[in-house]
Amino acid sequence: MEFGVAMPDWAEGEQKKLPEYLKTLEERMRVVHRFARLNVEHDTGGPFAAGVFELKTGRVVSIGVNRVVPGRCSTAHAEVMAIALAQKRLGVHDLGGEGLPDHQLVVNWLPCCMCFGATLWSGVTSLAIAGSDGSLEEITGFDEGPRIDNAKELAKRGIEFFDNILKDEAIDTFKLFRDSGRLVYNGRGGGACIPVPADAP
Ligand SMILES: [Zn+2]
Repeated sequence: MEFGVAMPDWAEGEQKKLPEYLKTLEERMRVVHRFARLNVEHDTGGPFAAGVFELKTGRVVSIGVNRVVPGRCSTAHAEVMAIALAQKRLGVHDLGGEGLPDHQLVVNWLPCCMCFGATLWSGVTSLAIAGSDGSLEEITGFDEGPRIDNAKELAKRGIEFFDNILKDEAIDTFKLFRDSGRLVYNGRGGGACIPVPADAP
């Protein structure tokens, strides 16, 4: 047995358009926002994207988007996709392993309870997000799970943390998702059990 979740077909072409290095945090976040928006426009998953970059050089290691519904996988959140793709590409299980440069995870919102755990175990030494207030849950209805003091927990583990990077673009993507009427697979109130047709993308 084996499991894997593929990125959508459009992603490879989009990734080829990217420069090898994205020097600034804003440049990295802009790419993450674009992938999140494209994921909504193509109807290939939830309104989320994440990227793993070499912290200092900005080398693009991986970009992931949410694939929960098309991938039939409740853990296929953008952060998990990006982390797994980065580890696969580098052939490691720990992005903070010996001999590796520092890595940064960039996400278009505060990771949910699962992805926050995945971030801690990934080996990244830096996390940058577009926002962390209640906007995501208010606009889309997604359940982000129980919250802890994220900033404190990251600091305790030596992971630097940047919040509110190009926040408005994240809000725009969430509104686009809401207005498109797409499935909120784990909405508060039990939306996770809506069946997906077998021929869904
Ligand atoms: Zn998540």
